[in-house]
Amino acid sequence: MRVRLLGTGSADGWPNPFCDCRSCAAERAAGRSRRPSAALVDDRILVDCGPTTPHLTGHVSLRDVEHLLVTHGHPDHLQPMMLLTRSWVDVGRRLHVWGPEQAIAACRAWVGPDADVDLHVVGPGTTVELPTAAGTYAATVLAAEHHHGDGDVLAQEAVLYAVTAPDGDRLLYATDTGALPASTIDAVGGRVDLVLIDETFGDRADHGRGHLDLTTLPGVLDALRAGGVVDVRTLVAATHLSHHNPPAEELRPRLRHLGVLLPDDGDLLDLAVPGGRPAERMLLLGGARSGKSTRAEAIASAYADVGYVATAGQRADDPEWAERVALHRARRPEHWATYEAGDGIDVVDVVSAAEAGTCVLVDCLTLWLTAVLDRADAWARAEAGDRVGVHADVDAAVDALVDAVRASRATVVLVSNEVGMGVVPASASGRLFADLLGRLNARVADACDTVTLMVAGRPLDLTPQPARRLAWSL
Ligand SMILES: [Zn+2]
Ligand SMILES: [Zn+2]
Ligand SMILES: [Zn+2]
Repeated sequence: MRVRLLGTGSADGWPNPFCDCRSCAAERAAGRSRRPSAALVDDRILVDCGPTTPHLTGHVSLRDVEHLLVTHGHPDHLQPMMLLTRSWVDVGRRLHVWGPEQAIAACRAWVGPDADVDLHVVGPGTTVELPTAAGTYAATVLAAEHHHGDGDVLAQEAVLYAVTAPDGDRLLYATDTGALPASTIDAVGGRVDLVLIDETFGDRADHGRGHLDLTTLPGVLDALRAGGVVDVRTLVAATHLSHHNPPAEELRPRLRHLGVLLPDDGDLLDLAVPGGRPAERMLLLGGARSGKSTRAEAIASAYADVGYVATAGQRADDPEWAERVALHRARRPEHWATYEAGDGIDVVDVVSAAEAGTCVLVDCLTLWLTAVLDRADAWARAEAGDRVGVHADVDAAVDALVDAVRASRATVVLVSNEVGMGVVPASASGRLFADLLGRLNARVADACDTVTLMVAGRPLDLTPQPARRLAWSL
């Protein structure tokens, strides 16, 4: 199953076009704009179709869509005029629209007598077959908790969908909803591969029961885990996001703590490859005490299976160093596997051996490079003028590291120091090290999906814009 996120925003989108709050300003400055939520499954099944869904950028087409699953009639989820604009084209296939009563009623006025469109009213408790040219899918209709006061009949009839592909991959589409009713969790019928979950309100809690926020989402995830719907291999991604959330740079690590990803509009979630969570490659740069290690550990903590590669090594004659290392170790969760690089353990081997769905955290590349230089006897050779030979040895080691990072099926989080912004070091070995570390960082950055510079505990996103699309695999 391949799920294209056509929108991940709330009704107003994020940023809200009329708002200059901190969150909206940050998203605008980053060039990001989220449209009302909608998802396209294997190009065949569209879940929700809001006002902006038909106005797609890039190479996405809705021509192959054979089924539209409508959660409810709120206008951010259903803009039925597209049924008219579709009729202006000879698509060559029928479209089946499924949804609650009022939502389907709103579609009727836009369907002409000869249109190749069939409307179907469905409610919670039913499972319908969805035949397509790519095989037969199934959709189970589930009750949402989308309460907006007694007058809102469109919210009252809101549903969620569990969609099963012919190959068995399963999606739970769970917006707009608050805490899921127990009957809904039961009715999902077991494990899913992907959950798109409402996270409309971020840090705002005074919004009623019809949506989720950062305080209510953890309870829903616990219930989904207890109900066997979500396990460690399930990909959970937030959607229906609004400006009540903190800016994405702050929201992303907070969601990661919950095991939830923050996708962008247009992202493709590819569930075709078995074996775990999406692999990401991340480089965190920074000076001493910039917060890079703390941030790296926060990212890794979203994974059940973490391999921590400590490159610090031992310095038998340095108690201050030993204390530093012990402090770092005490901070890490006990279930993380720790690899002390040096005694026969190489970073490249650990990264290469890591399995899909796990995370490898390397802290840090600066000391890894030091070890490479020590092994090559680089300091003495550099003082003796053999810089070319030293560069060649280091390049070979860096090539192996970069290849392993690129090929990794696991998420790899790499920490490195940003040095060389001060005066040029007085010694030849100091200059050599600053040069080589700068080159190493640039090479590794090139192999990473995201690059972040930490300054005074604040992250600065160095990822090229527009952000690279992650080829997420599950
Ligand atoms: Zn909505
Ligand atoms: Zn705002
Ligand atoms: Zn709604």
